[in-house]
Amino acid sequence: MLLAERFSSIQRLLRTVAIILRWLQRRRHFRQAVIGAREMDDALEVLIRLDQQTHFMVEIKQLEAGSDKNHILRVGGRIENAELGHDQRFPLILPKSTPLVKLLIKQAQETTLHGGAQLMLHSLRRKFWIPHASQAVKSFVHKCVVCRLHRGLMFKQQMAPLPGQRVKPARPFVSSGVDYCGPFTLRIGTKRSRTLVKTYLAIFICMLLKPSI
Ligand SMILES: [Zn+2]
Repeated sequence: MLLAERFSSIQRLLRTVAIILRWLQRRRHFRQAVIGAREMDDALEVLIRLDQQTHFMVEIKQLEAGSDKNHILRVGGRIENAELGHDQRFPLILPKSTPLVKLLIKQAQETTLHGGAQLMLHSLRRKFWIPHASQAVKSFVHKCVVCRLHRGLMFKQQMAPLPGQRVKPARPFVSSGVDYCGPFTLRIGTKRSRTLVKTYLAIFICMLLKPSI
């Protein structure tokens, strides 16, 4: 559809179509600037119907009974008795890779905050059924710069080889070192036990620093 190609956002497209529909219904300019949710839904229905009529004309003629009261093709499945919304039980069928579908995929990406192909697919399938959607979504994610940045490999710290003293067998304390030291506050405490602990700690550090003692 040529109109959908001119927009980079589904919301802007829907708003424009909603205004056109308003004008068609009333044939005059209107003062109310706010476009309601119902009008946005109607605009989406019109766009979907146009897409379906372009790509599924044969199926629509063959399956007149399969379309809903708005003459829109929906998928029937085995979950029609599930406690889910009508759109989720009977998703709208859309042809793959039309400008409208691309805008819907883009919207799914924005609503899922670049959450990846699986999350986008889940978000889309709550309302739409797009054949080969997985392929279309993956290719969209692949081209997205933000997703590519998120996918980038983290820098890994280069590890030096271990020093010889740590990997060669030797008697205890032949080689010694301290990985981490201090600051140790050696205050004289009021309790005897506390003083003792600190004294032991100080001795232990001395042993590490001066193994010859
Ligand atoms: Zn992305």
